[in-house]
Amino acid sequence: MIWILLGPPGAGKGTQAKMLAEHLGAEHVSTGDLLRQAVADGTELGRKAKSFMEAGDLVPDELILGMVREKLGAGSRGGWILDGYPRNRAQAESLGAMLGEIDQSIACVVDLEVPEDELVRRIAGRAADEGRTDDTEETVRNRLRVYRDQTQPLIDYYGGQGLLKAVDGVGGIEEIGDRVQAIAGAAGRTAQ
Ligand code: AMP
Repeated sequence: MIWILLGPPGAGKGTQAKMLAEHLGAEHVSTGDLLRQAVADGTELGRKAKSFMEAGDLVPDELILGMVREKLGAGSRGGWILDGYPRNRAQAESLGAMLGEIDQSIACVVDLEVPEDELVRRIAGRAADEGRTDDTEETVRNRLRVYRDQTQPLIDYYGGQGLLKAVDGVGGIEEIGDRVQAIAGAAGRTAQ
């Protein structure tokens, strides 16, 4: 079983995905974390991905697909929480095909809803805390644009499949966590 966390940069996907993975006993898969690790390790993947990440653009789909295929191919007893993937229609379609191959399905897609002014405030705070090199003002603006153009259409894509669950992403971390866990847990039980 797979749970997908969708939402704009700064919505708190990473934090909520980690908490949800712990709650469900599933494996957290963050394509952003995997890419940052590859950059830090100086692997071939990292060298190819770096400039796209620094510009706030999407890394080419085929690089991402290889990474995700490796993770899902390794198996996980409790399923996976996908954080930051899929990011566009082509990735969503290849994920669907991959899940068919390994006989897995999507429990639900949690869409974390946060207004844009709140996002910009949060991202600026995070840049200071984590020292991320893709959190300059220009990059952040581009990441929000890329989200709107490429990722947001997935809300309709998964909505059309009856898989979308909108969650209010404003409030305390624990409070949002309770909302996410209640919805994702219920969807997991229904889908099983
Ligand atoms: P994130 O931590 O999820 O915000 O990802 C940081 C950066 O990694 C993004 O701005 C993209 O450059 C890249 N990235 C992460 N996940 C993906 C993905 N699924 N497809 C393409 N690029 C991605």
